[in-house]
Amino acid sequence: MSHAFESRPATTTPLELGHFVAGEPVAAAAGARRGDVYNPATGAVRAHVAFASAAETAAAIAAAKAAAPAWAATPPPRRARVMFRFKELIEQHQDELARLITLEHGKVLSDARGEVTRGLEVVEFACGIPQLLKGEFTENVGTEIDSWSLRQPLGVCAGITPFNFPAMVPLWMIPVAIACGNTFVLKPSEKDPSCPLRLAELLTEAGLPAGVFNVVNGDREAVDTLLSHPDVAAVSFVGSTPIAEYIHRTAAQHGKRVQALGGAKNHMVVMPDADVDLVANALLGAAYGSAGERCMAISVAVTVGGIADPLIAALRKKLATLRVGSGLEPEVEMGPLVTREHREKVRGYLDTGVAEGAKLVVDGRQHTVAASEKGFFLGPSLFDGVERGMRIWREEIFGPVLGIVRTTSLAEALALVNAHEFGNGTSIFTNDGRAAREFAHGVAAGMVGVNVPIPVPMAFHSFGGWKRSLFGDTHVHGPEGVRFYTRLKTVTARWPTSGAGTAEFVMPTMK
Ligand code: NAD
Repeated sequence: MSHAFESRPATTTPLELGHFVAGEPVAAAAGARRGDVYNPATGAVRAHVAFASAAETAAAIAAAKAAAPAWAATPPPRRARVMFRFKELIEQHQDELARLITLEHGKVLSDARGEVTRGLEVVEFACGIPQLLKGEFTENVGTEIDSWSLRQPLGVCAGITPFNFPAMVPLWMIPVAIACGNTFVLKPSEKDPSCPLRLAELLTEAGLPAGVFNVVNGDREAVDTLLSHPDVAAVSFVGSTPIAEYIHRTAAQHGKRVQALGGAKNHMVVMPDADVDLVANALLGAAYGSAGERCMAISVAVTVGGIADPLIAALRKKLATLRVGSGLEPEVEMGPLVTREHREKVRGYLDTGVAEGAKLVVDGRQHTVAASEKGFFLGPSLFDGVERGMRIWREEIFGPVLGIVRTTSLAEALALVNAHEFGNGTSIFTNDGRAAREFAHGVAAGMVGVNVPIPVPMAFHSFGGWKRSLFGDTHVHGPEGVRFYTRLKTVTARWPTSGAGTAEFVMPTMK
């Protein structure tokens, strides 16, 4: 099989990326609209990606529909065996997948490898699908009557995913959906489509029948087709809040099951008794790792009492030596932002914060990366004196910018966190168990860390936020993922031994 999206460095001729339908790569239709895919470290166009038309998207849905009955009828242990082989292939190709991520997203290679591992863990979870689909059985719900509940697949499911985790977020959905017996159409981010296309090839190599997993690249036209097509039963979305809200509303209007995970503004509360160095190191990774382009990045540190000054001093010292550069270079700790436009947007927030009266104690606008003037780099930035109501507190910046809000008590800090419209992840750093317990109990967020800066749940738990960070009822992967991708059926059965019995006109009750 030829890999049109192999992980070679940018050349003068950009790659042409199409779709993956019915078990094979599909080139863009003649005259198709296309988008540019950049290498953010060099600023060069690495590839052109096709934008699927409504008709091309419908063809992928048709392939998934055609494959659905046989796949749903495949015994779960056999579906699990495909997952076991997929797991092995991801392990074998981990470096290649990570390189594809770094070349199009920009994050450093070690971080990209970590992302692949977090996705791999969901594949491992899906390997246990026979156990997860076992159902419940009651003997004798009535005299000689048995009843059992089972979960069956939905049919064709769709996934629409963001740029910031081109391996992990699709893998939050694909293994669970497929192992449950569904077929799938993925519309990955148009900014870094190569890794999802490679995953489609690996799934085919793992023995997945043609049509069970398909990729359509594109933009709103492809998404709107998935949201309105009568043959799509369920939609999983991860991305920004305005689009999540649109996806949830539109898919629900078309009668689909939908889960739509949105944006975030994650706060870390730092109690006065916390270890300053431990907190500074935790914040460095959580705020500036992946250049802050993580839905679980910490973007606000809420200090309680007098710890703000020593913490800021420690952060300034560490930020002065943070290595920014191409993610392919082993010493580099923070790569570029994903596109030039996004870098300008984040830079704009630095101007806004200064205009709003916050104190920019570390200014990333001054940062230049030698020999990479055309890359989309921005240095790490730190604001002190951020206040509730400022735009830099209210809005998701999604860049290497950390804001410090000073408070005087845990109650005040908790009220601040809970006042935010988002409720994805949050954490507290303290040595006081009682404060930690009060915070974990009272905070309005879906994922909470205690001395853990980025509390991303493992694959066998479920991932999701509260408030305007998630639209829908179920979180992704883990037990909630199995519930989302299956529907419940309860069978009640008896085998009478003789005679036709008598007609009964009252509601049956237990005899
Ligand atoms: P985005 O919302 O711009 O795009 C997400 C997906 O939606 C992409 O596939 C994109 O092509 C599609 N899309 C964009 N505009 C659309 C439109 N008008 N109509 C239909 N589809 C559209 O998000 P992004 O910039 O790729 O990713 C960053 C965002 O994702 C951040 O807000 C981040 O917090 C969020 N995110 C959230 C989580 C989570 O678990 N809650 C995880 C990762 C990222």
